[in-house]
Amino acid sequence: MKKQYAVIGLGRFGSHLARALYDEGNEVIGIDLNEEKVEAYQDSLSQAFIADSTEEASMKSLGLRNFDVVIVAIGDDMESSILTVVLLKELEVPYVVAKALSKRHGLVLTKVGADQVVFPERDMGLRLAKRLMHPNIIEHLKLSDDYSVEEIKIPSSLVGTSIQQLNIRKRYRINVIAIRHKTDKMSISPHPTDVLTEGDLLVVIGTNDDLKSFSDTLE
Ligand code: ADP
Repeated sequence: MKKQYAVIGLGRFGSHLARALYDEGNEVIGIDLNEEKVEAYQDSLSQAFIADSTEEASMKSLGLRNFDVVIVAIGDDMESSILTVVLLKELEVPYVVAKALSKRHGLVLTKVGADQVVFPERDMGLRLAKRLMHPNIIEHLKLSDDYSVEEIKIPSSLVGTSIQQLNIRKRYRINVIAIRHKTDKMSISPHPTDVLTEGDLLVVIGTNDDLKSFSDTLE
C-alpha cells in the first residue's frame, strides 16, 4: 500500500529519507526554506516546495493534514523543529515523526505532540558499534526489553550441520524461526533435518542473554 509522505527539511537526513520513500513508489513531497535544495530535489520527488515550516499559512495551503505521515527533518535549528511540530499537530496531521539531535530536544518534541521521535546519529552510532563488535549479527530486532530476533551469519565450520545437530534449543534456549539462504530465499520454520549451506543466515529468537551466548560461540 503506497502512502503519502511530506518531508520538511531536505538536509542530509531528510533528503535520503524522502528519496528512499519516493523510490519505493510512495507520494513524497519535500519542503525546505532553501531554494537551491528545493530545486535539487524537484525531479527526484513527487513535488518540492520552498516554504518556512513555522509559518501557519504556508503549511495550511500545502494541505499537510491529508498526508499519512509528516517527517520533521530539521537539524540544527531546534526552535524551528519544535515550532513546526506544534504547528503540524495544531493542523491535525495524523502522524508526525521528528528528528532530535539530543535527549532534551527529543523530550520537548514528545511533549509538544510528536508521535515518534528519532535520533539518527545516536542510533547509527549504537548500530555501528554493535556491528563492529559482533560482525556475524546482520540484523537485530528488539521485541521487548528481554527478547529479540537476530539474523546471524553462520561460520563455515557449521556448513553441512543440520538444525537438529546444532541442538540450539537445548543448548542455548533459542529457536530458529527461519534460514535465509544466499539467494535471499527463506526457509520458514525449517525442518530439524534441514542442513545449513554456505552463506546461510539463521533467523533466531530468544532472550538477549541467550542470543548473546550463542553468537559469542560463533565468533
Ligand atoms: P542534516 O543534519 O540532516 O543535514 P540540516 O540541519 O543540515 O540537517 O538540514 C536541515 C534542513 O532543514 C536544511 O536544508 C534547512 O534549510 C531546512 N530548514 C531549517 N529550518 C526550516 C524551516 N523553518 N522550514 C523549512 N525548512 C527548514
